[in-house]
Amino acid sequence: MTAGLRLDTHEVLNQSPPYENVDLFSSDAPLIEAVEANGAADDAAALSAFGRHWGTADMSALARRANENPPKLQTFDAKGFRRDTVEFHPAYHDLMRASVAAGLHASTWTRSGTRAAPPAEVARAARYYMAAQIESGHLCPITMTRAALAALAAEPALRAQVAPKVVTTAYDSTFRPWWEKLGMTLGMGMTEKQGGTDVRANTTAATPTGDHYAITGHKWFLSAPMCDAFLVLAQAPGGLSCFFLPRFRPDGSVNALRLQRLKDKLGNRSNASSEVEFAEAFAWRVGEEGAGVRTIIQMVQLTRLDCALASAGFMRMALAQAVHHCRHRTVFQKHLYDQPMMRAVLADLALEVEGALALSMRLARAFDRAATDPREAAYARLVTPAAKYWVCKTAPAFIYEAMECLGGNGYVEESVLPRLYREAPVNAIWEGSGNVMCLDVLRALDRDKEALDLFDRLTGEAARGTGTKATRVEPKRELASESAARITVGRLAALAAAAALAANAPPAVTDAFVQTRLHRSHAALYAADGIDGTTSELLLQRALPE
Ligand SMILES: Cc1cc2nc3c(=O)[nH]c(=O)nc-3n(C[C@H](O)[C@H](O)[C@H](O)COP(=O)(O)OP(=O)(O)OC[C@H]3O[C@@H](n4cnc5c(N)ncnc54)[C@H](O)[C@@H]3O)c2cc1C
Repeated sequence: MTAGLRLDTHEVLNQSPPYENVDLFSSDAPLIEAVEANGAADDAAALSAFGRHWGTADMSALARRANENPPKLQTFDAKGFRRDTVEFHPAYHDLMRASVAAGLHASTWTRSGTRAAPPAEVARAARYYMAAQIESGHLCPITMTRAALAALAAEPALRAQVAPKVVTTAYDSTFRPWWEKLGMTLGMGMTEKQGGTDVRANTTAATPTGDHYAITGHKWFLSAPMCDAFLVLAQAPGGLSCFFLPRFRPDGSVNALRLQRLKDKLGNRSNASSEVEFAEAFAWRVGEEGAGVRTIIQMVQLTRLDCALASAGFMRMALAQAVHHCRHRTVFQKHLYDQPMMRAVLADLALEVEGALALSMRLARAFDRAATDPREAAYARLVTPAAKYWVCKTAPAFIYEAMECLGGNGYVEESVLPRLYREAPVNAIWEGSGNVMCLDVLRALDRDKEALDLFDRLTGEAARGTGTKATRVEPKRELASESAARITVGRLAALAAAAALAANAPPAVTDAFVQTRLHRSHAALYAADGIDGTTSELLLQRALPE
């Protein structure tokens, strides 16, 4: 039992110490292995330094403060002039500074805006996974900034101007034209009142005006509205098109973005999400008129990877908190950790994180190699929506289960679990909600012979890692109808996770994953039957060494 502390009225006994001042990298065996298996082993020392920094009590305190003091919209100044700015707590800026200094917003790009060499994606993914364990709201602009350069590839001259301002380690939160700043951030505006998924229903209009366009209309969701510029969709004469819409016009005047209000959100509270109107706002076109979806989807592919990584990170933090607590808490003369049923729950949770992490990191590797390897490009096309669907959908119920491992303490705000729990659903909703991800997989399979072949490859890889037969997914037959797609896409993700585990985890872990997630359908109630005692111990030591 944990040593006591004498108070006036009683001795405090049997409470677990805070889980803080940990190295988020070195204490996470599955992460170390995934980094190695996906080609970034040389980065281990730097990742450990990052993990130590983000695992400090000070970083957790910043995260708490940034969420307890949400951003405030400043619509007008005292004289009634429009301001349209957002004020953040200093803790938010400190988090942004730390993420930008570590390159989370840009390390996968060169200063000219081309892709950085492998393993840039994997190295960044590992950092992003760790940062998400501590604070996720500020990662919204970080994610959008790094992803936006992919869409700007459609306009090389503009990208050449913007990239040097993005690919820097300086965070500059001043409200000035982007070209005068030390570093800039980028956001994205697609969703309108009448439809988010169906962006072709956008009504915001883009009128050609000399060398640029005037954008008039609205966006119903525009997160991180203090970004220096946004990629927005609007209807040009040639159809739905993508635009670069800056906060300042080239003449240095403030552009016509009118922030209407900030959303009052379930979670993600450190991040501002606004409703905005554009009143003939200045914008440059990105890509051809009519090619808006094709252009911006390059950005969205990357933000979807981050959704999966962040949700895996939330699960990891929830698991670590649960295992840590159960190792200290005694019930009926025994540590919770040693109570058979709790052990079964913890081991099964650990197995879920193993799969989510291995899959997300394997996907990051595909992004590293897609430009030069068509098979990796096919992997990224098919597995990105499947991983986003499966990992992000798993996280809320997972975090709830981990919360329960801490009993009443887990439900209380000072423990990090409530914030993780509130944060988790948004990753399933934005950047393409669950059903939309499944429709994307269907589309990829319909068009893409390489994607169909991938099912066979994954089945073979998963089977090789375990020595047992991995359950094959029969895409053609099973995906015949949209209504069955969720089941199959979930199984595709689990199959891809098993294949990823086969490349980096001990065979017993892959085997337990295949047995419990592919041979049987896994209930979200955890404590799956089929994880033996030795494998449970292995999983828990890997999750958090004692
Ligand atoms: C906190 C937050 C911040 C956001 N920030 C931004 C931002 O910065 N920029 C931005 O552009 N957007 C942003 N969004 C919007 C987000 O991307 C959309 O909410 C999302 O894309 C879904 O669009 P919608 O809300 O219009 O829902 P709808 O499109 O109406 O969809 C509702 C539901 O229907 C499902 N559905 C849709 N089509 C089908 C179909 N054919 N078959 C079956 N089911 C279907 C969807 O999966 C979804 O579950 C943000 C959202 C939130 C919550």
